[in-house]
Amino acid sequence: MTPTNRRILVVGAGFAGAVHARTLAENGYRVHVIDRRPHIGGNAYDRVDENGIRVHVYGPHLFHTKNEAVIAWLKRFGRFTPYQHKVRVRLPDGATAPLPINRTTVNIVHGTDLQTEAEVKAFLASVAVPIAHPANAAEYLYSRIGTALTDLFFRPYTRKMWLMELEDMAASVVQRIPINYDDTDTYFERTQTQMMPVDGYTALFDQILSHEAITVDLGVGYEKGMERDYGHCFTSMPIDEYFDYVDGELPYRSIRFHHRTATEAPEQGWSVTNFTDDGPLTRETAWHIIPHHLVERTGRYTYTAEEPCDYKDNGFERYYPVKTADGRFQARYDLYKERAKDLATISFIGRCGTYQYLDMDQVINQSLAHVGKWIAERSGQGAA
Ligand code: UDP
Repeated sequence: MTPTNRRILVVGAGFAGAVHARTLAENGYRVHVIDRRPHIGGNAYDRVDENGIRVHVYGPHLFHTKNEAVIAWLKRFGRFTPYQHKVRVRLPDGATAPLPINRTTVNIVHGTDLQTEAEVKAFLASVAVPIAHPANAAEYLYSRIGTALTDLFFRPYTRKMWLMELEDMAASVVQRIPINYDDTDTYFERTQTQMMPVDGYTALFDQILSHEAITVDLGVGYEKGMERDYGHCFTSMPIDEYFDYVDGELPYRSIRFHHRTATEAPEQGWSVTNFTDDGPLTRETAWHIIPHHLVERTGRYTYTAEEPCDYKDNGFERYYPVKTADGRFQARYDLYKERAKDLATISFIGRCGTYQYLDMDQVINQSLAHVGKWIAERSGQGAA
């Protein structure tokens, strides 16, 4: 294999860009990574704040996956500790209940005393609305858990998160959250590996990008035509922005973060509390509960609440692609994807490049596959 002697440009130092850069470097390519932000790590970037608490600057990133190859790849660059993420939802009376919905949640909300998985299944079946082919998030939830649980746990939260009704959202958005009939109280399925980087995500990215063939320049945005100086460009920039929004805008939801400092941290067995009320906030994270996030004991604890908003009201910070039941933004993305096929030297990667609501492991998996195929094609080993 003879990699091009021209450098490769990678736009964006988040997971998509970092995985591409590292894999290219390990296959003999020289790589130039740029990011318009002043730091590496993309939205997974974390830092230790003035309270000695590790805070994920763009909201909680809890790593979970079923993909052994992704785990093996990540473990090359840092140590990880097992962490079972737990979430509770604050109910109108101030009490909390586990999310995902489980036996306890059903008993709390419905005032039942269901003892077994079979009883929970039978009860939920009795309150479920028969809908053969759910066409949106509301129909999916109604057909699985009935109206009471749906309207309490999902309707107000979804309204403030997306500024849309459950009826307008794709079922896939709420299908991210499993439904448990037993006492499982972890946010992600127990069959998944759940783990956190011991030294944080930023240190992990530092290691991924530490390679003699990789140069990183921060605070540098992509400018049209830059790719002419390189053998190829992998970009995680928003694909609609690249094409000057010619087919219309691809919307995103963004989050404003509200940090508060507490001098007491009551014992609680969960790190994230979700809110069912009609106020602007969706959830609050108690960072010190997550392993290795209480970095220095200062007697102060940071809590961060999230207020969703349109990305244009938050400095064009794009967090969540909007997945509607009618797929209208997906259809718009497809137009951009068609346009991108004409660009021989640019590949769009990652959440903003491909307009997908992806978890970290999915970005890593897709990026390993994508860059692996690209390298194989150029070395004459792969299919065209
Ligand atoms: N959701 C909800 N109530 C909750 C938690 C989630 O209605 O208490 C819905 C909401 O629409 C949200 C989606 O489920 O956007 C996915 O939630 P998840 O926690 O996976 O979102 P993320 O962690 O990616 O923000």
